[in-house]
Amino acid sequence: MRDKAAGLMGLVHGSRMSLDGKIVEQTLSQWVDMGGKPRTTEILFAPHVRSCCYVFSAKSPVLQQLGPEWEDALNRLNGVISLSLKVRALTAYYSRGFYDIHDSGICVGCQEKFFLNSRDGGQRNLAAVWLR
Ligand SMILES: [Zn+2]
Repeated sequence: MRDKAAGLMGLVHGSRMSLDGKIVEQTLSQWVDMGGKPRTTEILFAPHVRSCCYVFSAKSPVLQQLGPEWEDALNRLNGVISLSLKVRALTAYYSRGFYDIHDSGICVGCQEKFFLNSRDGGQRNLAAVWLR
């Protein structure tokens, strides 16, 4: 995310657990405190696991952990439930008035060239931004 007018740039890691911990809401509070404004902030969804690959059985314990704020992010079809991290994050951005949102459209589950913890197991990612 960036706000050219305010001279701000940031990264938000929107995993299920961090979204559950309200990382977007907390980041936007700090963003606004530092001068970021909804009208001049651009947000980009980077490659991430999307609902096509974030699938649970109806009996999954993960589903028991999700609060009501996840309801719009869940899709149910024939006993299979998929989760959209994007929908959950969008809800948080929209509720704070941030609407200039773009999307890479890339699912890391569909493309094996990307790391996916549930597929590739037990490792961690590192993200960095280099400014010139
Ligand atoms: Zn996918």
